[in-house]
Amino acid sequence: MLFLIKYGEISLKGRNRAKFEHRLMDNIVRRLPAGAARARRTWGRLYVEADDQHAAAAERIIGNTFGVVAFARVRTYDKSTTALDRIADEMVAELPPGSFKVEARREDKSFALTSYQIACELGDRLVRAGQSKLTVDVGAPDTTLSVEVRDRIYAYTDARRGPSGLPVGVSGRGMLLLSGGIDSPVAGYLVAGRGLAIDAVYFHSYPYTGEEAEQKVHQLAAHLARYMPRLDLHVVPFTPLQLLIKQRSHPDEVTLLMRACMMEVAQLVALRRDCGCLVTGESLGQVASQTLESLRVTGSHSTLPVLRPLIGLSKEEIISRARAIGTFETSILPYPDCCALFAPRHPVIRPRFERLEQSFARLEAASLIGEAADEAHHHRVTPAWVESAAAVATAASVAG
Ligand code: ATP
Ligand code: MG
Repeated sequence: MLFLIKYGEISLKGRNRAKFEHRLMDNIVRRLPAGAARARRTWGRLYVEADDQHAAAAERIIGNTFGVVAFARVRTYDKSTTALDRIADEMVAELPPGSFKVEARREDKSFALTSYQIACELGDRLVRAGQSKLTVDVGAPDTTLSVEVRDRIYAYTDARRGPSGLPVGVSGRGMLLLSGGIDSPVAGYLVAGRGLAIDAVYFHSYPYTGEEAEQKVHQLAAHLARYMPRLDLHVVPFTPLQLLIKQRSHPDEVTLLMRACMMEVAQLVALRRDCGCLVTGESLGQVASQTLESLRVTGSHSTLPVLRPLIGLSKEEIISRARAIGTFETSILPYPDCCALFAPRHPVIRPRFERLEQSFARLEAASLIGEAADEAHHHRVTPAWVESAAAVATAASVAG
């Protein structure tokens, strides 16, 4: 089975372009069993050829790979004068009864027929072969048959959209702070779509947060893993730090001090994993802990840049993205995370930075922070493939 892939961001040039293409091919092929698929690039398209028994898996993977703008299963033909006959013979079976149009694109200008001639002649042949089941409608056809004349002739009918963006890995690697909530999985998806490979870290406060809360994060990670070649989840035992904070600080400051500790532990794990940034699901003004003053506190506990891709999104926008990527239903499962359990009734909304830093210093948490990072459990996440994965769903034209 051969897949044609349209890719790219038009702004890519020179060396960046080659890097982008190689990463994209690699991100598809290495997710399939060794030897099951081969990729090549030519004339501005990628082609992935998969063994028949891996064709369905290849299609799923391609449809969830960042960098893929659109893709289709294609048939190929020699560039001879009889090609149109053979295309008509074979493709007539792929066109459902109803209207169609042919969209032709001649990249190889030495081919005898122009795009317009290809479209007209192939259209005629198909109408004849279709025995009154097929009519031409160039305005709003039921089906579009695309024909591209390149190194060979490629023909396909149902092109679909991919998630676009940059191939995961071209922008480096980041550590996502993944809680069981709605926001952080969306944050991870967004930065992955800008080419960032991610690891995820989850702070688990057993037994204050139950097994179910951890399972939920594993599930969220499995949903996210659909969109990336590899995802590792690091589960950090956070109870000792939480108990320390509860014991040594004023209740109003508990949430922010917890966040500060999370950032420090996350950074230690991140540096060991070669990550160049932290990524959180924080969004401005959403909850008490996400004011500018609070962001200053959390940000000051990492020397790595902290990416907050949701910063300007409303809750409604975040929810609709969570639905589209398939994480929402899992995120709203009712297992509280550690922050909910330890949250004070009246958190400080506008902490005075210096005061919080003093409180943080009084914790003397350095050794527990180091231990928490050392004791992180590493899990390689297996992707959860579900049919609702929205990125694959919509029909699109690959030509153009
Ligand atoms: P989310 O829906 O992602 O939990 P939220 O709106 O509930 O976000 P907070 O609970 O204030 O926001 O958390 C802000 C960010 O801190 C989260 O988006 C996440 O990146 C990080 N975070 C919070 N709790 C945890 C945790 N237990 N493990 C890992 N990261 C966490
Ligand atoms: Mg949360």
